[in-house]
Amino acid sequence: MSRPIPVLQEPRPRLPAWFKVELCQGPDYQEIRRLTQELKLHTICEEARCPNVWECWNNRTATFLILGDVCTRRCHYCAVTTGRPLPLDEAEPERVAAAVKRLGLRHAVITSVNRDELPDGGARIFAETIRAIRRLSRACSRRSGPRGNTGGRSRCSRQRPDAGLPPSPGSWSVWAKQ
Ligand code: SF4
Repeated sequence: MSRPIPVLQEPRPRLPAWFKVELCQGPDYQEIRRLTQELKLHTICEEARCPNVWECWNNRTATFLILGDVCTRRCHYCAVTTGRPLPLDEAEPERVAAAVKRLGLRHAVITSVNRDELPDGGARIFAETIRAIRRLSRACSRRSGPRGNTGGRSRCSRQRPDAGLPPSPGSWSVWAKQ
């Protein structure tokens, strides 16, 4: 015999105030949105439908998503579109660098979709993006180039994105996403 499901008698406690997200489209939010649309750039903030986007963008914090907005992997926890990606956008590194300069960032965070169909996993474009940022924004002390896997990370390092450039205030770093 099945047992009856207990009925909750007490009212649910209210969620704390900090739990609520304020959907505030302040001037910094608007600027980042306008700039990414104008330069046809993607952010993981939007593609992954991150709930922190209102807070981050209003504090001039955003994470660029390069190598397109279609990922070759289907991770269940991730909202980024999966499918057959478009051909590489060779002008993307310069546009990312232009956005970093126009936003006056001292620290740019860059991530990417996985491009498993490419022999180098997109490492070349990653390295070119880092070089372009360094050329346009000397004050930007760190360009973080995470790859979706450690193989891509080492391939990006082998592209020597700092080669031929004068030393910057900090070293560039590669952060693995997984
Ligand atoms: S910067 Fe990171 S935490 Fe903030 S909105 Fe973008 S993805 Fe979310």
